[in-house]
Amino acid sequence: MLTLESATVRFGARAALDAVDLEVAEHETVCVLGPSGSGKSTLLRVVAGLHPPDGGRVLLDGADQAGVPVHRRGLGLMFQDHQLFPHRDVGANVAFGLRMRGVSRRDQEHRVGELLDLVGLPGAERRAVAALSGGEQQRVALARALAPRPKLLMLDEPLGQLDRGLRERLVVELRTLFGRLGTTVLAVTHDQGEAFALADRVVVMRDGRIAQVGTPLEVWRRPASAFVARFLGFDN
Ligand code: ATP
Ligand code: MG
Repeated sequence: MLTLESATVRFGARAALDAVDLEVAEHETVCVLGPSGSGKSTLLRVVAGLHPPDGGRVLLDGADQAGVPVHRRGLGLMFQDHQLFPHRDVGANVAFGLRMRGVSRRDQEHRVGELLDLVGLPGAERRAVAALSGGEQQRVALARALAPRPKLLMLDEPLGQLDRGLRERLVVELRTLFGRLGTTVLAVTHDQGEAFALADRVVVMRDGRIAQVGTPLEVWRRPASAFVARFLGFDN
């Protein structure tokens, strides 16, 4: 459903994304791993249309996305820099994308209720965002990203702010949730444990290129290079 063909992004002389080819199938969860600066966020930004590729193509369901604005791509985004609106309540935050799409008030309320149940915050509509814990806020951000029923959900460090115990619990819940909804997911994380628990396939990036793609088991058993083995911490 998502295809990157030789996708390239340059900042000056440096390629943040260097002729990347990638296929993500419908209902698949793909996690992107790699050191800081390897191009993970750039990959998501180019798929979202937040940054035009300097070369190559991005296709969604076979359609070239060149010139298609972010809100027309049918994506759910949960990025590091996409914060909740702190002065609005939970319900208004989750309904944001629905309001933008002209969904009726009644349908908005219904859908928000469903989503809050789904992310484990039933009845939280009128709660103040500022009074929620970090984990609860991440759940609200996830509900907001899922609200327009995106064909592709893209997450950049979705559990970044959370402590390890909560992350581990949420990863299990997310995996179940995505399976139930049949959502296609492209997620970036620093945390290989998180990636291995969540992903059908993992992508390991290095210097704007894909160092390896495979199922967690394949990558775990047969790292494609010394770099991948070292990155995964297998060199000791
Ligand atoms: P992190 O794990 O730290 O989030 P990342 O893998 O997401 O890193 P990117 O943010 O994709 O890395 O950045 C890839 C490279 O592109 C880095 O060298 C970064 O400095 C560079 N880069 C990213 N955005 C810009 C920009 N707006 N202007 C200039 N350089 C940029
Ligand atoms: Mg990043």
